Amino acid sequence: MKKISYLLILTALTIAACNKPETETVEKIVKIEKTEAVYTGEVGLNPTVWYQTSAENKAIYIQTYKLAKLMLAENAKKKGKKPLAVVTDLDETALDNSPYNARMAKTGNVYANDTWDAWVNTAKATALPGAVDFFNFAKSKNVEVFYISNRSQATLKPTMDNMKLLGFPNVEDKYFMLKTDKSDKTARRDSILKTYDVILYLGDNMTDFTEEFANRDTTDFGAAVVEKYKAEIGTKFIVFPNPMYGEWEKAAFRNDYGKSPAEKLKALKSAIKDNY
Ligand SMILES: [Mg+2]
Repeated sequence: MKKISYLLILTALTIAACNKPETETVEKIVKIEKTEAVYTGEVGLNPTVWYQTSAENKAIYIQTYKLAKLMLAENAKKKGKKPLAVVTDLDETALDNSPYNARMAKTGNVYANDTWDAWVNTAKATALPGAVDFFNFAKSKNVEVFYISNRSQATLKPTMDNMKLLGFPNVEDKYFMLKTDKSDKTARRDSILKTYDVILYLGDNMTDFTEEFANRDTTDFGAAVVEKYKAEIGTKFIVFPNPMYGEWEKAAFRNDYGKSPAEKLKALKSAIKDNY
């Protein structure tokens, strides 16, 4: 009899334990559905955790800079009359700004030029794995290094201070081309091409290679342009990962950053397919 009672109590407890999480889950789902879903900085939580903590991200940077070294040596063989150069982006290509994204993910705040400049002014960005070694390698092979970035011209000094401390080569005004009036990097790239033969471009955003990736098609999100440049990708265009922000997100907003926070979230959801 005693045994049966224990068994009954145990069974009742087990049933209760099994039911509890189920009820909680249902409640949670109902709560979320009742709240108006909007786009906030918290959308960047998962991508920022991946970027900042994953071994995979570190390995991808090491792997990609290794490829860059191989391609630099290969492309330098076709030397013509002009001296050689590599052109690189800074943010999320050479410098890690994920603390800024982490702050947004934690507070829910979204990107703003003033908070971004405040972060840049701290000069606390770290170098991405393999970056300092690669650019010094290029310099040692007589390949000049140019930095083209859409950081504002006003942040040139903290940017250079930051990079000097990290050990990047060519930390001099003439090798830095920051943003003055527009984000389009074409004119800045072209100005280097007048004097140098650029054998590699490095970036985390496809517009670091060609402006054709700006204002992407709103249905294929630039896939056709990737197809067009398949030969250059991995040989002349060295691409780094950035799941936190970029032109890809603008494309998912249908090239309209001016959407309301609710419309932005809807746009992101409608950009992905769940038809299986
Ligand atoms: Mg970048």
